[in-house]
Amino acid sequence: MISQRISQVSPSITLAISAKAKEMKKQGLDVIGFGAGEPDFDTPQHIKEACIKALENGITKYTPASGTVELKEAVREKFLKDNGLEYSIKEIIICCGAKHALYNAIQVLCSEGDEVLLPSPYWVSYIEQIRLAGAQPVVVRTTPETDFKVIPEILEEQITPRTKLLILNSPSNPTGSVYSQEELEDVAAIALRHNFFIISDEIYEKILYDGLCHVSIAALSADIKKKTIVINGLSKSYSMTGWRIGYAAGHEGIIKAMSNLQSHSTSNPTSFAQTGAVAALTGPQEVVGEMVREFARRRDHLIKRLGTIAPISCTRPQGAFYAFPSIRKVLGRRAMNDSMSFCDALLEKEKVAVVPGEAFGHDDHIRLSYATSIEHIDRGLDRIARFIEGLS
Ligand SMILES: *Cc1c(COP(=O)(O)O)cnc(C)c1O
Repeated sequence: MISQRISQVSPSITLAISAKAKEMKKQGLDVIGFGAGEPDFDTPQHIKEACIKALENGITKYTPASGTVELKEAVREKFLKDNGLEYSIKEIIICCGAKHALYNAIQVLCSEGDEVLLPSPYWVSYIEQIRLAGAQPVVVRTTPETDFKVIPEILEEQITPRTKLLILNSPSNPTGSVYSQEELEDVAAIALRHNFFIISDEIYEKILYDGLCHVSIAALSADIKKKTIVINGLSKSYSMTGWRIGYAAGHEGIIKAMSNLQSHSTSNPTSFAQTGAVAALTGPQEVVGEMVREFARRRDHLIKRLGTIAPISCTRPQGAFYAFPSIRKVLGRRAMNDSMSFCDALLEKEKVAVVPGEAFGHDDHIRLSYATSIEHIDRGLDRIARFIEGLS
C-alpha cells in the first residue's frame, strides 16, 4: 500500500521512549525528562506582539512562495552582521523551519545514487532526508577523543567520484561540539579539492559557551561560499520552534531550485510568523544572551554532576543544549546490550527519560538535553546515579 520510497524511512526510534514517558506521566508518575529538543523558554514578548499586530493588520494571505522580501532583507542583514557573509536577496529562501530548508536543499542537490558524507553522531533527520532524495548516506564516524569532530584524513578516505555533498552541524546536536576556524578550513580545503558541496546547519550558532564565537564555513573564502548552503532558523535562538521559520542561503541557482520545489509543495511559510521573524532578527538581541547564560549555568551543573558518576564519561559541550555521555562501560550488565535497552530500563526503573544514542548512530551513548531547570537536572541525575549504582 505504501510506496517503497516512504516505506524505507525508519520510524523515529526516539518516539518509542517519549511515547512511553508521556504515557507514564499521564498515569500520574513523576517522570523526569531529558529528551527536550527545544528551549524551555517562551518566545520573547516583542516577537509575539509583532505577530499579533500582523494578524490584526490582515497579514493573513499568501506571500511569495520563497518568503517575504522584508524577512529576506532581515536575513540578509543578519548574515552580514553576524557572519560577515554577503548575500543578495536572490540567494536567500525562507522555509517552514530549518528542517524544511534542509529537506529542500538535499532534494535539489542530490540525484539517485549520489553519496552524502555524514559525520556521526548525526541529527536523526539528516539520514532519512538523504535517503528520501535517493542518495546514499556515507557515515563518517567520529569519537569523543577528537571531541566528535572529523579527522580530515579519515573524511578524505570516504570520498568517491559520487560524493556530492557533506553535511556539517556546528554547534552539534547531539554532542554540543563546535568546530574551530582552523578545523573548518581543513574541511573547506577538502571540499574544494574534491569539488563537493557542503550543507552547513548552523541552527545553534547563537547558543555557544566559554566565549566562543561562531564561524560559518561559508565565510572562509569566496570559493567555499559558492559550494556551501548555509541553513539556519529562528527555532533555537529565539525559542520559536512552533513558528516554523527557517532559512537557507547559497548559490542563486540552488536557491532558485529550492524555491521552485517549495512553490509546489508547501508554498510560503506562514505569513504572520514571517512578520514575527522579522521582529526577532531586527529587534533587541539581549533575550538571546540571557537564555544562553542560563543554558551555560545548566551545562556546568550537568557536566559537573555527570563527572561524579564513575562509569559514565562525557565530552564538554561548547554549544547547543545537549550532552552526549558514553554508557559503554555499563553496557552488557543486566542484559542491557544497547542504548535502547539502557533507556528503556532507566525509564522503567527510575522514571527518567533520555534519548538512546542509536538515534544518532552511536549505540553506546545517550543524549541528555539540558533545556530543563537545574532542579530537574539534579533530581534526574540523582536517579541516573542510583540506577547505574544498582547495575554493578
Ligand atoms: C532543531 C534542529 C533543526 C530544525 O529546526 P527547525 O527550524 O525547528 O526545523 C535542524 N537541525 C538541527 C541540528 C536541530 O537540532
